[in-house]
Amino acid sequence: MTLDQLPPLRETLAEHDLLAKKSFGQHFLLDLNITRKIARLAEVGEGDHVIEVGPGPGGLTRALLETGAKVTAVEADPRFAPLLEELSVASGGALTLRLEDALKTNEAEVAAGAPAHIVSNLPYNVGTPLLIKWLTGAFTPASMTLMFQKEVADRIAAEPGSDAYGRLSVIAQATSHTAVVMDVPARAFTPPPKVASAVARLTPREGRPSPERLDALQRVTAAAFGQRRKMLRSSLKVLGGAELCEAAGIAPEARAETIDIPGFLALADALRRR
Ligand code: SAM
Repeated sequence: MTLDQLPPLRETLAEHDLLAKKSFGQHFLLDLNITRKIARLAEVGEGDHVIEVGPGPGGLTRALLETGAKVTAVEADPRFAPLLEELSVASGGALTLRLEDALKTNEAEVAAGAPAHIVSNLPYNVGTPLLIKWLTGAFTPASMTLMFQKEVADRIAAEPGSDAYGRLSVIAQATSHTAVVMDVPARAFTPPPKVASAVARLTPREGRPSPERLDALQRVTAAAFGQRRKMLRSSLKVLGGAELCEAAGIAPEARAETIDIPGFLALADALRRR
């Protein structure tokens, strides 16, 4: 069997007697028109290596394989292994399966020194920790195209001054170019989640901050947004308060949500100098 001869996903699920499990955050995309659109937004194709987290029944995996990309799929639920093995055969071996928790995956080892893109309809319970790992860890993905709850996708791309602007916006935008590229209603999933979803796309900025600078940025943003309604001179008190702000050229009376990315990087640098 080849990719274009595979039965519809609903049939494949029924054949393998598979029902979604809540504990794994399983909400499946069974409409190939939607998964193909995500694969197009990911801008991957022949010669690219994609790491897909949580292939589940393999709807997005099929769409990624159709582009000609090579896919390494990381799945925590072993019930999907037989179905994904069939997909691997149908793809002529372009799909490799790793049955493990993606939080523990060593992406650098998977990528083996070459660039790799990450594409995923993420399980909501581990979506943010996975994103933080890919933004700040040792391995920098060539691009990330990721489905989140819409509220999280909006936070990733939020601008200073907006309610959604917070820690995640600063860490994401200090390391990457970010955009929300597709809204997906709850009814597109089986079973539908309680909230709407959206696909965010992130590509690395040139000159990504060093691990030390990112570490300082994480400390500053945690303190500043931990008390986001307070002036920085009090929310950053334990890190140096007004003195830290002055060293960074930031008004101590300002509040976290008004500070842009260069402002936060200046605060992180001031913290490192202390
Ligand atoms: N990609 C499929 C789709 O679009 O239909 C499934 C998406 S579903 C939202 C999330 C998938 O991630 C499930 O297959 C689930 O078993 C898997 N998953 C959950 N936690 C995981 C983890 N820690 N590591 C790897 N996969 C995980």
